[in-house]
Amino acid sequence: TQQADWNRSDEYHNSFLVKPDDHLKFTVENSQKSGLPDIAVSEAQGKFLHLLVKSIGAKRALEVGTLGGYSSLWIAKALPADGKLVTLEVDPTHAKVATENMQNAGFGSKVTVILGPAVESLSKLPSEEQFDLAFIDADKANNTNYFKEAERLVRPGGVIIVDNVVRRGRVADSSIQDDGSVEGVRSLLRYIQGSSLVEATTIATVGSKGYDGFLYAVRNA
Ligand code: SAM
Repeated sequence: TQQADWNRSDEYHNSFLVKPDDHLKFTVENSQKSGLPDIAVSEAQGKFLHLLVKSIGAKRALEVGTLGGYSSLWIAKALPADGKLVTLEVDPTHAKVATENMQNAGFGSKVTVILGPAVESLSKLPSEEQFDLAFIDADKANNTNYFKEAERLVRPGGVIIVDNVVRRGRVADSSIQDDGSVEGVRSLLRYIQGSSLVEATTIATVGSKGYDGFLYAVRNA
């Protein structure tokens, strides 16, 4: 199948480029053991976020959608010692497991997991405390709400990434009209089309997480 090819391809590349890491391993195993769904970013995508944080020299990062903290950990590991990640999660079990996973990695103070609906948590974050990067990966129906808050909270020149914006091509398939996640991406695209605050592109991807893609936006100066 295509998916088996994509898995093999990811595994092949990762075998050269991604080093085994005990904290990431613990996070994956603890999340599985705790019954969390298998919907974290892939290893290669996590490494991409890690490299992005390094590339822009980010010190402060914001994440919407923590799950067990797998992507959080990839991001936090790329931040400097005095860096900070704020990550938002609505599910108490997910937040608890993520907190355990961050503590296991020694990131109990570097990473703050805020429990609650992300729209509310975001509205409480002051505009003065700007972030260098935001990673949006939660309930897709709220994508535009999260993106608007990210535009407010990310510094000029900073980066906003939104995950799962291609969805096996379904976002572009006009015969699909009853999928809230697909609609959430479409309304985000319409919003960005009219926003003067960002420039953006979508990069489609295939790999162990199937055929999907992410939106990459830069906050204008
Ligand atoms: N970023 C994570 C990773 O790659 O390891 C995966 C996040 S998972 C795809 C989406 C998460 O968003 C879930 O843990 C879910 O509970 C959370 N979520 C859903 N609705 C939310 C909301 N309204 N506010 C905050 N988090 C929400």
